[in-house]
Amino acid sequence: MKIIEIKAIPLRWESPRMGDALIDVKARQALLVRVVTDKGLEGIGEAFLYGCSLRAGKALLEDHLAPALIGEDPTRIEWIWQKLFWRTVAHGRRGLIMGLMSGVDIALWDILGKAAGMPVYKLLGGYADRVPSYASCGFYAPGKGLDGLRREVERNLQKGYRHVKIKAGRTPKMPGHPLRCMPCTEYGVSVEEDLERMAAARALVKEGRLLVDLNAAWSSGTIVHYGRDLARCGVDWLEEPTLFEDLEGCARLRRQLRGILVMGFETEQGVMNYGRLLEQGAVDILQPDIGWGGGITECRKIAALGAAQNKPVSMHSFGSAVHFAASLHLAASLPNTEIIESETNENGLRSELLARPLEADGEMSFFVPEGPGLGITLSEAALERMYTAL
Ligand SMILES: [Mg+2]
Repeated sequence: MKIIEIKAIPLRWESPRMGDALIDVKARQALLVRVVTDKGLEGIGEAFLYGCSLRAGKALLEDHLAPALIGEDPTRIEWIWQKLFWRTVAHGRRGLIMGLMSGVDIALWDILGKAAGMPVYKLLGGYADRVPSYASCGFYAPGKGLDGLRREVERNLQKGYRHVKIKAGRTPKMPGHPLRCMPCTEYGVSVEEDLERMAAARALVKEGRLLVDLNAAWSSGTIVHYGRDLARCGVDWLEEPTLFEDLEGCARLRRQLRGILVMGFETEQGVMNYGRLLEQGAVDILQPDIGWGGGITECRKIAALGAAQNKPVSMHSFGSAVHFAASLHLAASLPNTEIIESETNENGLRSELLARPLEADGEMSFFVPEGPGLGITLSEAALERMYTAL
């Protein structure tokens, strides 16, 4: 079997306005990667580009990576990963290139599973057939307020979620806050209001964990300063508290926060960089992104690093249904998966893209698709609707 074509599928979905500590979202986008073989088997993956230009991603994929892929045996996934890494080593290793490599890698695992007649999670060892999840919600939005946040959290608890994550850190009046560098600086809150948001969510999440995501917006010193307040508000896990480059600061705040575990970093990539996170003692929970961190091949190694220190993994997922399905397969194969991120924002890329949506049990543990490969079929109608010409 040989790879004969690599196709980029750029998708866009108009979204209700929402924001985290840094960004302001008006549309969601995805770059799907389709790998076509001479035997009629095709694989699908997603390169998670984090707001980067889809046109740039498509051009790099088709002009730069595809030539190294055409003619290769798609079942030699590790070989292909290493080949792409070294062909791009002077300008890649992280960022956009690693995101595109991740999308290719997921598509190759899809092909391998289809060729073997097995779901990917079983090819990887098949630890569990479903994965517990947390509701990822609690974004800021103009006029949303505390009541809007409460209603949203309640809605998710009623669906069966036990654990909830909300956004924090959109506090533009804080000296040195990075929101001033972003295109939209509106609908921020004061630190006191932000703490009230956390306390309001905590009051509703009675049994499960409360996760709070700062999206790296606060400095490590600021987090230590507000450490007692975060504990008083009942924060269990603090996600990406500070800048990814400030591993020393992250390690320091992690030691000083009492009873709060630090999770990160979705924006870090590659097993060697995760190795440094662990060497520095910067995190309690590893949070790689499958469409960004290096695909299934690399994220499996990252999870093994966690296992070597008896640390759990919680896959980050804020992409399309393809991204979520791939994350589920890897998460279900790992003994150290705790919970996976399940975005509950309105997101057509997540809710409309599959011909048969992914299903969960009453406590929102998601069943892993049992069909060969990723076990998913894309809805042609949704693809047509969301396709965006570049
Ligand atoms: Mg995050």
